[in-house]
Amino acid sequence: MEKHSGKKVNNGIAIGKILFYSKSKDKIETKKVENPEQELARYEVAKEKAIMQLGALYEKACKEVGQENAQIFDVHSMLLEDEDYNDSIHQMIMEEKFNAEYAVAQTGENFSRIFSEMEDDYFNARSADIKDVSQRIITVLKGYEDEEIIGKEAVIVVADDLAPSETVQMDKSKLLAFVTKYGSTNSHTAILARTMGIPALVSTPINEDCNGLMGIVDGYEGIFIINPDQETLEAYKEKQEQDSQEKELLEGLKGKEDITLSGQKINLYANIGNVDDLKSVLENDAKGIGLFRSEFLYLEKDTFPTEEEQFNIYKQVAEKMKDKKVIIRTLDIGADKQVDYLNLGHEDNPAMGYRAIRICLTQTDIFKTQLRAIFRASIYGNLSIMYPMITSVSEVRKIKEIVEEIKEELTAEQLPFVDVEQGIMIETPAAVMISDLLAQEVDFFSVGTNDLTQYTLAIDRQNAKLDCFYDAHHEAILRMLKLIVDNAHKAGIWAGICGELGADTSLTRTFLEMGFDELSVSPAKILPIRKIIRETK
Ligand code: PEP
Ligand code: MG
Repeated sequence: MEKHSGKKVNNGIAIGKILFYSKSKDKIETKKVENPEQELARYEVAKEKAIMQLGALYEKACKEVGQENAQIFDVHSMLLEDEDYNDSIHQMIMEEKFNAEYAVAQTGENFSRIFSEMEDDYFNARSADIKDVSQRIITVLKGYEDEEIIGKEAVIVVADDLAPSETVQMDKSKLLAFVTKYGSTNSHTAILARTMGIPALVSTPINEDCNGLMGIVDGYEGIFIINPDQETLEAYKEKQEQDSQEKELLEGLKGKEDITLSGQKINLYANIGNVDDLKSVLENDAKGIGLFRSEFLYLEKDTFPTEEEQFNIYKQVAEKMKDKKVIIRTLDIGADKQVDYLNLGHEDNPAMGYRAIRICLTQTDIFKTQLRAIFRASIYGNLSIMYPMITSVSEVRKIKEIVEEIKEELTAEQLPFVDVEQGIMIETPAAVMISDLLAQEVDFFSVGTNDLTQYTLAIDRQNAKLDCFYDAHHEAILRMLKLIVDNAHKAGIWAGICGELGADTSLTRTFLEMGFDELSVSPAKILPIRKIIRETK
């Protein structure tokens, strides 16, 4: 039995098999083969298998998102049959005697570059597709069943580090917990663990040797146990049982109002990253969604989600939540949330870099596509829009101009929409200091305490070394929160908190005293906070 200490990201107990997720799996070995004919046959078999996978994906997508959206898998199958693509691979294997993995990877890279350099939108779009299909064949060649990180069995995922884009792609129903060697407790990967309600640890000294062994993650104490002895295993099973009994006690709060004993009401909403999270939102009886981190839709994909794809997702969320409020935050990509297809390039200081609204206001086509999708979905429920990383009144005015353009476009196209509430995130010190002016421009404020803490205390939230200095209870933050809510109320608008601090139960009463109108937290935190609210005088 081995025992390691890590930093706590989310509480809970998980017991299960360990899967070590290694990025080195993605490395392509380059070697010369002795028997090129055999290598070519290996390629042909892998290609056929990839085509079969794509056929199955096409059928599944037809059922789930409609034939139009499923077409992409047909296109991928066609690319795999492309003569030039296949000739290049054949030549590299047969004449240059390279291994199949390298031949496919190199051909994929070359074709992708050629497509991206063409002055034709159709071929530009195929650039990412050709990389995608090449990766699919490589995955098959390497013997992995498909591209899924997790197989059929639920596991504890252990890794050196996990990017948000990797975490969102994991099958949540099979993820018991995660433990990483690196990473900060304030990162988006950590936030995802809280949203999923699974135990998680970062900064835990682990290595690949634990793969396949039994493990226990104790998210309360920050302990990771590998290969536990029988006594330890029994003790943790008991703890897990106590946990579920406590959860059952909270069940009684479902359907109850979020109101204090003296009659102060507060809206208790949930934070989500995608449609899958809705299940726990409904299970935990959140009264709305206060933060839909829409950028996770972009992180799950290898190309920009189209207007249609986004529309379908926003519509689904709006419909499932019925008349309950759903606040969609527009694309907050950049910093730790990176996607290759956006080509953001290297930045020395990405947290203070080209991100969020700065991308949307300079690459307005991306922004407009998202706004069109949200407005079109607005007729199916109770949607609101929220803009991230605001620092000035002029940004808000520019956003409003673009929104007006979108509304005119939709009206001209006779596409119905409703006038949704529009708010901003207050997550920069600049926005706090001019919150009186910003309040004149928008319908609501939602405080992003994660970024507000990082920018106010000058602490990179990704830097694990600084976790001990990251004090979200700092008096500067608490004073800012009071200033924000007071300025909102003076202008007659509402104010909430959607950063992680909103879920800090030691501050729930302080937030009520400050007068906040809303708290938006990870779904699993709804009922514990409701309990505190209802016990508050
Ligand atoms: C925040 O900054 O507090 C916030 C809610 O946004 P994110 O964590 O996604 O940056
Ligand atoms: Mg933020």
